Amino acid sequence: MPTPPFEQLLAYKDIPLHIIAQEYGFDVRPVGSSYRAHCKFCGGTGSPNLTFFPKNDTFYCFACKTTGTKSYFLYLVTSTPKHDLEYIWRTGQKPGSGALVLDLDSPEANNLRVPCMRVVAVWCGQRLATGAEYPKEILAHIDEILLREDFKQREYDLVISLLHQAEELLCLK
Ligand SMILES: [Zn+2]
Repeated sequence: MPTPPFEQLLAYKDIPLHIIAQEYGFDVRPVGSSYRAHCKFCGGTGSPNLTFFPKNDTFYCFACKTTGTKSYFLYLVTSTPKHDLEYIWRTGQKPGSGALVLDLDSPEANNLRVPCMRVVAVWCGQRLATGAEYPKEILAHIDEILLREDFKQREYDLVISLLHQAEELLCLK
């Protein structure tokens, strides 16, 4: 499904996930304090295994274990990158194209992602001050790693080693 227009993505910020799910054809029914639907991610027939929790706008499928936040759900049904959605909801603006996303305040950022982003931000700031041109491919790679769903020590080390590579390239020039 194509990415919905910006205004619609922005509006999703204030619409509960189980209502959005209905918009995308999920047969949502209230069950107790949550909502259930047949899971389109695993094509589940039989009992409705996909559960929506209105308390924190998350979902979970008891069959295929697909789970996540509203932004991840929207990524799954519209292919809109999660970080674009979170940027739109945080700033109310369209995400810039290809800019390095320094998402320091994301509530989903775990303990390693945030310090890693700070390191990258400081490095970029210092490089900018010297008027150096960034090695674009390396920065694109770093950007991609920073936005990975799962950000652990391995990702942190990868980013640092890429920064070293970038640094070497700049010194060679
Ligand atoms: Zn499922």
